Amino acid sequence: VRERAVEALTRLVRDIEDFPEPGIVFKDITPLLADPAGFGAVVEAMAAAGRDENGAVVVDKVVGMEARGFILAAPVALALGVGFAPVRKAGKLPHDTHQVDYALEYGEAVLELHRDAVAPGERVLLVDDVLATGGTAGATCDLVRRCGADPVGFAVLMELGFLDGRAALGEVPVHALQRI
Ligand code: AMP
Repeated sequence: VRERAVEALTRLVRDIEDFPEPGIVFKDITPLLADPAGFGAVVEAMAAAGRDENGAVVVDKVVGMEARGFILAAPVALALGVGFAPVRKAGKLPHDTHQVDYALEYGEAVLELHRDAVAPGERVLLVDDVLATGGTAGATCDLVRRCGADPVGFAVLMELGFLDGRAALGEVPVHALQRI
């Protein structure tokens, strides 16, 4: 499974240079999403982060971060047979939220999670496409903890190793299909 997923990533994710600004190499996953076999392989491989070595599901919920995290996290949640909850940018979620400020390369942003999206004591798997500086993932861990739940892992397609985003996650294990 993992091998097929890594092969799909290598073949179907394209590098867009200088997007959205000069110096950034953007990982464009849209060709991967358009390929059902490749998309299925990466979803299955990411879902492995929510199982133990015997294949038993060890998470209670999957949280995905706006916007590409949604696309991956929702099918991962269904593959594991658990619920999905969205983490969104400020002002998008309609009910009572927790909010966390986090640093961007330039300035700050706010992420939100519905207070009732995860229950106290739940084990939560985070899912996104790319781990860069770790700001988004670190803020999402904080949001999950504010709900009284426990972030137990972060599944990601690609980790940009040179940015050391893992450091922002502390003890939370990172499951990256590919490290660049
Ligand atoms: P960060 O908070 O710096 O770890 O950034 C992670 C978020 O920004 C993720 O939600 C990614 O979707 C997006 N992102 C950051 N860098 C890239 C990149 N080079 N290519 C695609 N998406 C990226």
